[in-house]
This record gives sequence, structure tokens and C-alpha cells, in this order.
Amino acid sequence: MATSEAPELIGLAQRTLRDLRLRVAGASGGGPDALREAGYAGATSLFDAFETWLSDQGSDRAEDLPIDEFSSRAAEFFQRAGWGRVSFKSLHDALAVIDIEDCWESQLHGQGETGCHLTTGTLSGFLGCLADYPVGVMEIDCGTSAHTRCRFLAGNADMLEHAYERLSRGEEWETIGAGEF
Ligand SMILES: [Zn+2]
Repeated sequence: MATSEAPELIGLAQRTLRDLRLRVAGASGGGPDALREAGYAGATSLFDAFETWLSDQGSDRAEDLPIDEFSSRAAEFFQRAGWGRVSFKSLHDALAVIDIEDCWESQLHGQGETGCHLTTGTLSGFLGCLADYPVGVMEIDCGTSAHTRCRFLAGNADMLEHAYERLSRGEEWETIGAGEF
């Protein structure tokens, strides 16, 4: 991973992104999947920018940081990048929960639309840069005007499937985190 080169990022007006994602989300057939894949496609560049930012701050590389420090640094990085107020928490082994208050993407939703698909794909790719297995991410709560926090679970495919089954039976995510995998 090249961290010495400028990260492949560009600043876009939120309005541009809003227009694009609304059109893709509303496209017939696989709109949300296309958004997740697009988020995933850019995640490595975002991770490179994270490494550059860490190095500019005199910090160790992401993979060398203790988990608590990684979590707080990554949260700060996403927040500075305009994502919203972000927190990363590890729940149990490799399962993590990511909360985003006032998530930029939930604020760009069209009427009646729900789901932060670009963010889901981005988190999956970003965390996957550190893990030695594909990291799945599932949004279990999406902010609306009344409830402005989006909550994502991240883990390997088995963990997420297990967590999803338990959530769909009405369990709270906190008990899932404390449970057995
Ligand atoms: Zn959301």
C-alpha cells in the first residue's frame, strides 16, 4: 500500500453526490448494491489517506495501533472527512459496532428512502484493509429525521449472519455483542 503518494481523493459538493446517489438508489435493479460496491471501490484510497494522516501526526501505522487507539483515530479521521460524529467500538472478538450520528449519507436520502449504502460499502472496504478476511458490514439502524444515528455491525460473514438472525428474533445488539460466537 503506497502511503507516500497523495491519496486518490477529490472533494465534491454534497449536492453533486446527492444527485448521483439518488439516481443510482432509484435505478431499477440493484441500486443499493451498486452504491455499496462504489463505496467499497474507493475504500482503499480512503485507507491510504488514513495512513498518511496518521503518519503526518507522528502516529504508528494503523496495523500497529492497539485496538482502542485505532478506534479513536479512525473515528476522528472519518469525522474530519465529514462523515458525521463517528465512534468505533469492538464488541466481541472481531465483531465491531460503528455509530455515526448525523451521518452525511442519511441526510442526503430522498423521500422515504433508507439505508446508507455508500457508507456500508466504504466501512467494509476500510476495515478489510486491516483484517486478513473479508469484512462484512450491515447497517442495523438508519437515522431518520427523528433519530439521527446510524448503526453498523462489522465482522466476518458467519458473525454477521448469526447477528442478523438474532436481531431478527428481536434481540438487542448489545446482548449479541456479549454473547458467544
Ligand atoms: Zn443510515
